Amino acid sequence: MNAPGLPNGSFRTDTLPFLNSFAGLPPAFYTRLMPTPVPSPYLVCASESAAALIDFDTREFNNPLFVETFAGNRVPEGSAPLAAVYSGHQFGVWAGQLGDGRALLLGDVPAPGTPHPGALELQLKGAGMTPYSRMGDGRAVLRSSIREFLCSEAMAALGIPTSRALCVIGSDMRVLRETPETSAIATRMAPTFIRFGSFEHWFYNDRKDELQTLADYTIDRCYPELRDAANPYEAFLAEVTRRTARLMAQWQAVGFMHGVMNTDNMSILGLTIDYGPFGFMEAFDARHICNHTDQQGRYSYQMQPGIGQWNCYALGQALLPLIGDVDITQAALEVYKPEYQQHFDRLLHQKLGLRSSQPDDDKLFDAMFGLMQNNHVDFTLFFRRLGSLALDNTSADEPLRDLFIDRPAFDAWATQYRARLRQENSDDVQRKIAMNAVNPKYVLRNYLAQVAIQKAQDKDFSETERLLKLLEKPFDEQPENEAYAALPPDWASHLEVSCSS
Ligand code: AMP
Ligand code: MG
Repeated sequence: MNAPGLPNGSFRTDTLPFLNSFAGLPPAFYTRLMPTPVPSPYLVCASESAAALIDFDTREFNNPLFVETFAGNRVPEGSAPLAAVYSGHQFGVWAGQLGDGRALLLGDVPAPGTPHPGALELQLKGAGMTPYSRMGDGRAVLRSSIREFLCSEAMAALGIPTSRALCVIGSDMRVLRETPETSAIATRMAPTFIRFGSFEHWFYNDRKDELQTLADYTIDRCYPELRDAANPYEAFLAEVTRRTARLMAQWQAVGFMHGVMNTDNMSILGLTIDYGPFGFMEAFDARHICNHTDQQGRYSYQMQPGIGQWNCYALGQALLPLIGDVDITQAALEVYKPEYQQHFDRLLHQKLGLRSSQPDDDKLFDAMFGLMQNNHVDFTLFFRRLGSLALDNTSADEPLRDLFIDRPAFDAWATQYRARLRQENSDDVQRKIAMNAVNPKYVLRNYLAQVAIQKAQDKDFSETERLLKLLEKPFDEQPENEAYAALPPDWASHLEVSCSS
């Protein structure tokens, strides 16, 4: 393994042992094609911890062969590049066929430390047009590639299931969005990039054989423990539903908003995938919409758990022909709500440093969210500073109390919280350690990403590198990086992110 400080990995760019599992599916599932080369590629950033997952030698990052390969200018030996077909519901509406319009799967390579299938697919995002590009140019911009790179690695460090990012390669080729922008290619890794929409595709095309082939492939590779269930497709749906519910609970607990929870962006493994106009909650507003394009707020913070469930229903619909019975399908989907509630409740207890569960805890949590809403307190700072609250010394509350406009309302809630902590003989020191291990000090605030992106546009990648290192240890104090935990500056209030990427 070649994690930081550990010996270098075994594989180089030209010795990665490609398995090409997905390419073993019948041709209806994809189109084989080569990436389209780009002029003068250069390394923007690369993740050592992502490389470690595939036992990859990080010294390769500076090898021109690495840059050429992950720019799509050269196809690695043994890979079988392809674009996969899928469909999906976008903003609640059936959108028909979509597919990898700018992503190219190189193939999968062994990743011994990861769960089933013990392999990770390497996918180039922004590698050129495919038969599924529709009106798009097959490219990605540097801005969104850096955001995806940093957020994938940040989410992994937060312990939230996610696709990973190996590297971003920039190119001098410009692509047109609202204005001309620098283009880039990001390499993502996941055990599979199969989506809910991959199943919907075959259901809506009335192709039951392909639907079954895809379900069998996914179960055999990623959920082999379900193979012997009485109805494996029902067990599969229930397990995906559970994972999705847990993922939503994790997002809510850290204030992450995905922004485009269309069914084609929902991983069949319950991973966070397809980072676009995502955001981390700052001034708390349950109705906050992080995606400027989402005018109705379908994917606002408070909607995410319900949308996760809606998406599972869309998957259930697609799997119905295989499960064979509406009531059984319905029952599999009903695991969502209790799974979400149980998991979110557990995470809230941890966030508040509560070791036990009491009947009135919901009231404490509701009052807390009400208080956060009324005062628009910064989500990350609130929970982090809450960890420093002392049972018998209210003066230690000052930095926390300072986040509130309505201080008497905070004091009233803090009294309630202290009483609750006393009930379980909570210890200040131990509680702070436990809370700091679950409430991050550092998250990828939009303005932090923006500063790194602006520098990267001028080929200064130092800030991207610094953010990567910072976000790899989100729970550590890192006193030298204190400024990165601060409230966003005034100029950041005008920042907007949209579907344009
Ligand atoms: P997204 O919402 O970003 O996940 O993208 C939805 C669909 O649009 C997917 O099929 C993408 O492959 C496709 N797409 C997005 N941007 C582009 C682009 N620049 N060129 C080609 N296809 C794209
Ligand atoms: Mg997508």
